[in-house]
Amino acid sequence: MKVITIYECECCGETSVDKYRIMECESSHVSVIRVGKSRYDSNDGYAFKKYPRSIRVDFSDGKSLWYEPFVKGVSLEEAAVPTEIDEG
Ligand SMILES: [Zn+2]
Repeated sequence: MKVITIYECECCGETSVDKYRIMECESSHVSVIRVGKSRYDSNDGYAFKKYPRSIRVDFSDGKSLWYEPFVKGVSLEEAAVPTEIDEG
């Protein structure tokens, strides 16, 4: 009987028997540095009065994205729409 070791990226779940491939995968992901401003929308009914329509997230590579949850009929995970912030 052979024992097979499988490595898994703790960020995205990719698996491989090649440890270095997974180490490279893990180092390719950026980290959340800060969750910043939230935008609410008073004209958009209940959902976005209570919860933010968009949230700014700053990442370890220096980029920031606005995330917007929630499109009708789509799950929250599928609906997250990152939008790059151009501050230049
Ligand atoms: Zn990964």
